[in-house]
Amino acid sequence: MFSRLPFSGILSLSCRMSSTSASVLPTSLLRSTAYVGGSWIRSSDTFPVLDPATGTELLQVADCGPSECREALKAASGAFQAWKEVPSKERSNLLRKWYDLMIQNKEDLAKIITAENGKPTKEALGEIIYAAGFLEWFSEEARRIYGDVISVPLKDRRALVLKQPVGVTAIITPWNFPSAMITRKVGAALAAGCTVVVKPAEDTPLSALALAELAHQAGIPAGVYNVLPCSRQKAPSVGEILCTDPSVAKISFTGSTATGKILLRYAADTVKRVSMELGGHAPFIVFDSADVDKAVAGALASKFRNSGQTCVCTNKFLVQKGIHDVFVKKLSVMMKKELRVGNGFEDGVTQGPLINEKAVEKVEHHVQDAVSQGANIEVGGKRSGVGKNFFEPTLLSNVTAKMVCAREETFGPLAPVIKFDTEEEALAIANSVNVGLAGYFYSQDPAQIWRVAERLEVGMVGVNEGLLSSVECPFGGVKQSGLGREGSKYGIDEYLEVKYVCYGGL
Ligand code: ADP
Repeated sequence: MFSRLPFSGILSLSCRMSSTSASVLPTSLLRSTAYVGGSWIRSSDTFPVLDPATGTELLQVADCGPSECREALKAASGAFQAWKEVPSKERSNLLRKWYDLMIQNKEDLAKIITAENGKPTKEALGEIIYAAGFLEWFSEEARRIYGDVISVPLKDRRALVLKQPVGVTAIITPWNFPSAMITRKVGAALAAGCTVVVKPAEDTPLSALALAELAHQAGIPAGVYNVLPCSRQKAPSVGEILCTDPSVAKISFTGSTATGKILLRYAADTVKRVSMELGGHAPFIVFDSADVDKAVAGALASKFRNSGQTCVCTNKFLVQKGIHDVFVKKLSVMMKKELRVGNGFEDGVTQGPLINEKAVEKVEHHVQDAVSQGANIEVGGKRSGVGKNFFEPTLLSNVTAKMVCAREETFGPLAPVIKFDTEEEALAIANSVNVGLAGYFYSQDPAQIWRVAERLEVGMVGVNEGLLSSVECPFGGVKQSGLGREGSKYGIDEYLEVKYVCYGGL
């Protein structure tokens, strides 16, 4: 079904690059074939990767199906026995080398992100630093996997706890952070001694493959990190194998709640370990006591990063009536001053395209639904003339909790503002959704800060802060936002089994 390629000449053999992308994309890191068992593998089918800003084709990439998937799992299973026995210091050194190579190649990696995802180059560079940080962090954590010795009531016994790698891990990632969503999982998995098969999002496979090239250069052994690109059409069949094959011990997924539920059902049959980082619907509450300028700055950062396409982006603003009018006024002034829509490769652009037209239609639907029920457009409100995947940063006031944008995840540059009276009312609206990933609030009242931080039903809270992700801190949600935590000292536990050893007859 597929053939192995020599390392040299990969591009000439396998890439069909459009002339526009050729001038921008770094050919040294561009790969268009799967990476399995340490080799670049061509598939009989290919699919196009598009530039969301222009709609042009960047590359044709291998469209892997079930047979390539089984091959990748065989490679990961074959490599697991040896990798789990590699001393942790050596695993740590290899992850560190991979990190160093990411930093050395950061500009090129960022260009690949801007080309396939659309986010502005500065943001893409920020993602690469963040993504590389997970390899650095878990290279350090690899050496800090501790067991326990437990005292037991019987004199002739000792009880030990060993931590061991879970096994082969299937990793399915989204397009909104094409690099960081991979390293956040793979760094932890490899540090723990697991081997992985990564199925990147069909929109953004080039970043995953560029990381494979750097993993290869870093000396990560064959079969430890495998990448299996595939089209949206093949994702269900590949996903089913990844989540049901008996050789897979663990699934780690970031994406929509709907897809997460499908994968959870698959995983049930063979009772696999799962980590799920699913959709969010972050509330951003501004209380009367807030410093309004800080709240506006936080609002801008939290709402419009990646054009509103992150799972921790604010979905709805709840603003107390005493501060409401000034907040809306100042936010609209700042939006007009600070946000510029355009191609992510252009200087000064802060708002790139949305990932595809379906995403634009969703934002449009949320705006139209709100306006038809009485919301006011303060800023934006329609598609941008820049191109078909662009939408103007939009601010709506007079929004109610019943409107679609207050109940569903928009995943785009729409900031709806609901006016509220009391803290109880704000918490009731914030907690009324069935997901709970991030939540933000601005207040200068210490008692209120404690109360609200404890009562918000989310996995992460930003208090007087609109950006909270950091490799050192636990990322994850409650309710239908998922299972488990990534990054931080907790992230590695997702890839470790606890084994109790009872040592008797002493
Ligand atoms: P989005 O709609 O934003 O693309 P998804 O949750 O559908 O979010 O996609 C996240 C990841 O899940 C992508 O890599 C996608 O290819 C993958 N995916 C989507 N559907 C399936 C499926 N049925 N089985 C396995 N993977 C899937």
